[in-house]
Amino acid sequence: MIKVLASGSTGNAYLLGRILIECGIPYPKILKLGGWITPKACIITHSHNDHAKSTKDVAKHGIPIYASAGTLDEIDPEGKLRKAYVMSPETPYQILDWTVTAYTSKHCFGAFYYILEKDNEKLIFLQIMHRLKKTMQTSQKSILKLIIQRKT
Ligand SMILES: [Zn+2]
Repeated sequence: MIKVLASGSTGNAYLLGRILIECGIPYPKILKLGGWITPKACIITHSHNDHAKSTKDVAKHGIPIYASAGTLDEIDPEGKLRKAYVMSPETPYQILDWTVTAYTSKHCFGAFYYILEKDNEKLIFLQIMHRLKKTMQTSQKSILKLIIQRKT
């Protein structure tokens, strides 16, 4: 079950069990809005502030960050994040109890969208609506839930 902590141009953060998707609001707010659940991993779609503002703070708390090489370079050019994992597109990664596959998005340099799978659950996480049509045409017919940033 996905919990929307914040959605829109002022900040995005979603909690899928203990996976934090995006960290575009301050980390203390993520904890508070998430009912004090400590995330164990953080997946970021791209480097814009409304999606990645608190990456350094999240990493400081020992939470591993997953993103593209381009996104990590933008957020942290000096490579100082404690635990950062570069994801390659179209390669499945096991992140906690989810299999997460990144796909290149045209939103900006380094942007990904993600498909997350566990048992019979399948989620697609997109930044913006205009990706949807194209994505749905590309054989992703069994997607059960869509998580899309609220239009603002
Ligand atoms: Zn953006």
